[in-house]
Amino acid sequence: MTTIDQYSFENKRALIRVDFNVPIDSKTMKVTDDTRIRSVIPTIKKIINSGGSVVLMSHLGRPKNGFEKKYSLKNIVPTISELLGQDITFAGDCIGEAAFEITHNLKPGSVVLLENLRFYSEEKKGDLDFAKRLAKHGDVYINDAFGTAHRAHASTSVIAQFFPNDKMFGYLIEKEIKSVDKVLNSSEKPLTAIVGGAKVSSKITIIEKLIEKVDYLIIGGGMAYTFVKAQGGQVGNSLVEDDYLELANTIIAKAKERNVELLLPIDTLIADDFNNDATIKSCLTKEIPNGWMGLDIGTESIAKFEKVILESKLILWNGPMGVFEMSNFQNGTAAIAKSVAKATTKGAFSLIGGGDSVAAINKFNLANQVSHVSTGGGAMLEYLEGVELPGIAAIKH
Ligand code: AMP
Repeated sequence: MTTIDQYSFENKRALIRVDFNVPIDSKTMKVTDDTRIRSVIPTIKKIINSGGSVVLMSHLGRPKNGFEKKYSLKNIVPTISELLGQDITFAGDCIGEAAFEITHNLKPGSVVLLENLRFYSEEKKGDLDFAKRLAKHGDVYINDAFGTAHRAHASTSVIAQFFPNDKMFGYLIEKEIKSVDKVLNSSEKPLTAIVGGAKVSSKITIIEKLIEKVDYLIIGGGMAYTFVKAQGGQVGNSLVEDDYLELANTIIAKAKERNVELLLPIDTLIADDFNNDATIKSCLTKEIPNGWMGLDIGTESIAKFEKVILESKLILWNGPMGVFEMSNFQNGTAAIAKSVAKATTKGAFSLIGGGDSVAAINKFNLANQVSHVSTGGGAMLEYLEGVELPGIAAIKH
């Protein structure tokens, strides 16, 4: 497999699938979080500095059927130009004649952005002819869209077959893959996984996978109450998935069998309503009275989790410890984020993967104090679960 550092881009047009599905303010139409754009700038710069030109393609939002102004990638042109430090050309379409006119006459050093791929339903269907047409925009294909690597769409995987010897990952995907490999396949110890978030059901596959690998498994957030109830605890009105009680006990047994220390919150912050202004008190997680629900981990749990995190050499964090969106229940998640950052300063490798823990680490301004913050929510989860993602397979094979 070729890598971006081995390839000669001189006078070549690099067609790059990026994930520019960024949030845009509906009134000002300005990008409100440019992380995804910022994170592929090194790939773009590498090509233009090596004498090549760049054609960028992406989706944005979920357009229904054809062009919709609010989903036009034209809205993000100023942000890309600013981050890149040069003007870019916007092609008003992705497979129209006018777009080919532009991309067939590219000068080295120039950058073009194609219009939203999902204005054509063929993109999501993985249509072969659509992919073949898109392929005509470049001499070499680069996939740097980790956020959509779990989709078998025309631009993310089908297109790769038209570049049998000229396809590769961009720096961002390379980094995402290396980070997961480092966490899951390195011999350094201890390896700690922190899993939180609302439901056991959405994280069960990843927990089952992680239990094979980790030394410590910390479980927090709403999903912890299913485990506590399964062990005979009283969890009041906390979030519980009764269908998963048996499975929770199986996981606890499996952890014991494999010498994995599974840590559940011993104490919890409870509220009489799912509301930031509710009455709040603290109690043991297994003794939550009826009418009360656990919305964050308590101080003893924080101290217990912190101790393990600070001892760890490899850390994977997916999912918040409580309802961190509400200020009164953000303390547990903030404390864990700080411990992960502190462990990283001490030399641990930390990977933050999955939507809400990424939002949390950003909220507490600690993203630059951990080793890697993944840009792919669903893609990262599937990759951690051991699924071969179509966007990755298409480059590798
Ligand atoms: P997930 O997408 O599964 O990672 O879940 C993230 C969501 O879980 C966040 O929106 C949190 O507010 C929510 N969450 C975390 N802890 C709790 C809890 N104790 N009760 C209810 N929701 C929670």
